Amino acid sequence: MTDADAAAATVAVVGGGAVGVTTAHDLAVRGADVTLYERGELAAASSGRAAGLLYDAYAEDVDAAVGARSIERFRAFDRSLPGFSFSPCPYVIAVREGDPDADAVPAMVERMRDHGRDVALVDPAALGERFPSLRTDDLDVAAVAEGAGWTDPPSYVRALAERAAGEGVAIETETAVALGPRTDAGRALRVRDVGVDESPGTETPAFDAVVVAAGAHTRSLLADAGVSVPVVPYRVQALVARSDYAGPMVYDATAEAYLRPHPEGLLAGDGTEPVPADPDDYRREADDWFREDVAGVVNGRLARVGRPDDAGGLESGLPDARAWAGLCTATPDGDPLVGPVDAEDEAPTLFVAAGWQGHGFMRAPAVGEVVAEGVLASLAGVAFDGPESPWIGAFDPGRFDGTESFEIAEGMSLSSRTEEE
Ligand SMILES: Cc1cc2nc3c(=O)[nH]c(=O)nc-3n(C[C@H](O)[C@H](O)[C@H](O)COP(=O)(O)OP(=O)(O)OC[C@H]3O[C@@H](n4cnc5c(N)ncnc54)[C@H](O)[C@@H]3O)c2cc1C
Repeated sequence: MTDADAAAATVAVVGGGAVGVTTAHDLAVRGADVTLYERGELAAASSGRAAGLLYDAYAEDVDAAVGARSIERFRAFDRSLPGFSFSPCPYVIAVREGDPDADAVPAMVERMRDHGRDVALVDPAALGERFPSLRTDDLDVAAVAEGAGWTDPPSYVRALAERAAGEGVAIETETAVALGPRTDAGRALRVRDVGVDESPGTETPAFDAVVVAAGAHTRSLLADAGVSVPVVPYRVQALVARSDYAGPMVYDATAEAYLRPHPEGLLAGDGTEPVPADPDDYRREADDWFREDVAGVVNGRLARVGRPDDAGGLESGLPDARAWAGLCTATPDGDPLVGPVDAEDEAPTLFVAAGWQGHGFMRAPAVGEVVAEGVLASLAGVAFDGPESPWIGAFDPGRFDGTESFEIAEGMSLSSRTEEE
């Protein structure tokens, strides 16, 4: 394919979450003829259940660059995308006394700063003075990332989908698809009758390229086409409590839980269950242990909430809270799979973007852009690892053969961020 042909390619994107919608939009603005397939509504799965923390505080160079580009785009969308807003808010990483990970924090912050991120170590007492709503006397060390913020994740998906439709993307919701075989004409999809997975379904026209951004369903979808990827879903949890909170976003690294301001009060979460989950059959309600654990963390971290005269309710069974569970996806090395899965073919046509380890929403603006540019480059014959390639080598799906067995690691944990490159 010539560059011009590639830019006008027909591309199917499977998955109407943050990654799929961004990819579809970015492909269309580059001239591709795009159809987006979503088995439910837009943001029906993980992107509709995410907490909306957005930050660029990464120690690893590729992650820092992806985080920075995403924040840059979120800020630009805040100015230009109706229905979407980015609320700037500092992000505090707090490590308690006695936590063995505390020693690694100064070097981790130094690496973030080396990558141009606006992050600084802060003395716990000074942190408490800056943010009086936080309790800091039990902390050993803390850092503040200034370039962070939060949003409502489904609003991003819907707003960008509307813009994508304006750019010509055909959006087919309530349309579950399976991958068809590759032919000389390209790769068609089978549209399944909803609720009847074994039905033969109807066949779509062949596409020059198919991008699978199907979140927790990515592995099973690709397996149907004979492609094996080690992308394993696991369950995480969050809740919203009615408790006035206007402080910073906080990641309590010792408790491995986070909180942020929310229009209805305060959002807190994690509650990772580090075991594989079935995306078609997992518990969507939060567990009691999670509610109790996270209430304890929030009460311990906030200077105000939890006093007897406080109406927050966190210590009294969360009467005002709504709590839920959703799925994240793990990979053997904690990095996502972004790129062609048939790269050994001269001209790859099947691409994947999945395995975010809890950071897929905040990386979607940068990753969608990489996938759009990467797909068009691959169709034009640019080698994945060539000097002109937009793909990110560290995210190459080809680094795995799909048979790897591995432990699911908690995505935000400090230990996964303090490892040396
Ligand atoms: C409680 C919770 C809190 C989180 N907090 C954060 C956070 O603060 N920040 C952050 O960055 N990340 C967070 N995450 C992770 C984040 O939600 C995901 O990484 C991100 O949403 C992944 O986006 P996606 O587009 O890849 O997947 P999804 O949003 O899951 O989209 C995939 C879509 O594909 C569709 N699909 C699947 N199979 C098919 C098929 N056969 N045909 C058609 N469509 C199909 C699904 O219906 C789904 O809509 C959180 C997750 C949870 C559960």
